[in-house]
Amino acid sequence: MKLLVTGGAGFIGSAVVRQAIAQGHEVVNLDALTYAACLASLAPVADSPAYAFEHANICDGQAVARVLASHRPDIVMHLAAESHVDRSIDGPGAFIETNITGTYVLLEAARAYWTRAGRPAGFRFHHISTDEVFGTLGPEGHFTEDSPYDPRSPYSASKAASDHLVRAWHETYGLPVVLSNCSNNYGPYHFPEKLIPVVILNALAGREIPIYGNGSNIRDWLYVEDHADALLRVAQAGVNGRSYAIGGENERSNLDLVHSICAILDRLRPRAEGPHAALIRFVADRPGHDARYAIDPARIRAELGWRPSVTVEEGLERTVRWYLDNDAWWRPLLSRQGVGRRLGTEPAG
Ligand code: NAD
Repeated sequence: MKLLVTGGAGFIGSAVVRQAIAQGHEVVNLDALTYAACLASLAPVADSPAYAFEHANICDGQAVARVLASHRPDIVMHLAAESHVDRSIDGPGAFIETNITGTYVLLEAARAYWTRAGRPAGFRFHHISTDEVFGTLGPEGHFTEDSPYDPRSPYSASKAASDHLVRAWHETYGLPVVLSNCSNNYGPYHFPEKLIPVVILNALAGREIPIYGNGSNIRDWLYVEDHADALLRVAQAGVNGRSYAIGGENERSNLDLVHSICAILDRLRPRAEGPHAALIRFVADRPGHDARYAIDPARIRAELGWRPSVTVEEGLERTVRWYLDNDAWWRPLLSRQGVGRRLGTEPAG
């Protein structure tokens, strides 16, 4: 299969690209290389004859049409997005532009390409989305594919809008689509402004580890390689028009998660001044902070035989070890725009 992956220089996109090539697929990575992109995450496949890179913005219809016409992919896997909730609160405009307008532009280009190709039955547009579109859960219950949409941040609202556009292009124009909504990912190559890398990198530097509110917010963590495996199954074998909820069944409060990471670091890189958990500081909560996300992945398990292969304990251990061994990957990213602010090394504002 030939896959066009948008956002393939990002955290999840690069995992999809690496795994797709390992499975024998050809991959074209279309990425605008925003502050969140890292081509070094693709070093393991960059020299493969099965890999091609196109530097383009999904909001540029002509560029996207040219990439589709010249590479002729069987499947489009759409991961390009602005993805950081805190940045969406500080500046929602880029989220509206890329996540909504960009998805619209890509859908129109895909529709024209699919129509010109004689509407081949095998063509797929796979839209990759988040469980955050469903809003927040109370202490009980799980999100499923039938959960009502209730986004509460500019990020999740922009992703919800893009999900609706994708379904509308399927219903109205017959474009073959599949969608997936996944819980929080973590693992190697995670951009340093996200929670788990912030915890690891601040702990290693002896800086304070910030936790929003009282740390009771619960997320359902999934190792990124398991998500990439799920996405490749959905893209190839998901039922046309259907969406798939993907999650690790690994619920953890933010505070528990941070304590687990500190305990791993205490073992692997003990701190002369005492346990890493002493660095934890509770900070003012994020506005509109969703209390709990949890996914029931029964559909993808039953239809596509997918199961996460890595427990959260194993995944966190692998992730911490990876950051300890790969400072050449993360150190250059610390000077990217806004990252110091997220790590607390630069003042806010
Ligand atoms: P990321 O921020 O790490 O990477 C996004 C990539 O998209 C970057 O390489 C960036 O350069 C590229 N990009 C951004 N705007 C673009 C544009 N206009 N044109 C072309 N490329 C552009 O994101 P991620 O964490 O890898 O997430 C990928 C997708 O998965 C997103 O759609 C996100 O909503 C979804 N998702 C993420 C998570 C998570 O935990 N990270 C969970 C569920 C779903």
